Amino acid sequence: MDLSRYIRDVSDFPKPGILFKDITPLLADPAAFEAAVIQLADHYAAADVGAIAAAEARGFLFAAPVALRLRKPLVPLRKPGKLPYHTHSLKYDLEYGQTELHMHTDGVAPGTKVLMIDDVLATGGTMAAGCRLVERAGGVVVGCAFLIELGFLNGRAKLAGHDVFSLLMY
Ligand code: 5GP
Repeated sequence: MDLSRYIRDVSDFPKPGILFKDITPLLADPAAFEAAVIQLADHYAAADVGAIAAAEARGFLFAAPVALRLRKPLVPLRKPGKLPYHTHSLKYDLEYGQTELHMHTDGVAPGTKVLMIDDVLATGGTMAAGCRLVERAGGVVVGCAFLIELGFLNGRAKLAGHDVFSLLMY
């Protein structure tokens, strides 16, 4: 199935000059959504994966069904103030200012092999921060998987040393 048919380009979102890849047409089509989940999960079916981690919010949409399909624990990475238990946290830079990701301290046991999932790899800042947070807890990142990679932004450079896999490349 050609998943690119289910990705809508939206100009000037969230601000002028940005061409946003809108994944909602894919989410709205169960066959396309299922195909994307199966393709992501199948890529790691034979890999040694102990847990799946994803940052809110769109990462959850793909990480949750992939975790179910691979029968692996799902670890949410969240913005401050969302997780109820003790957390590890990590500040990282955005285009303007800083933000923070949190993960429960018992989310990833030391030595756990973690597959990271997000919908889109843009500049790589979000995924790089997620990887550092998982590694800070002693996890070992075994892969970073995306539905979409915006290759022209070279986010892979920020993920150097990690295995990067994407279903759609722009
Ligand atoms: P990065 O940190 O790689 O610059 O941005 C990636 C994060 O921003 C992802 O979590 C993703 O959800 C969001 N993002 C950036 N650009 C796009 C886009 O064009 N479409 C969608 N759906 N999300 C985007």
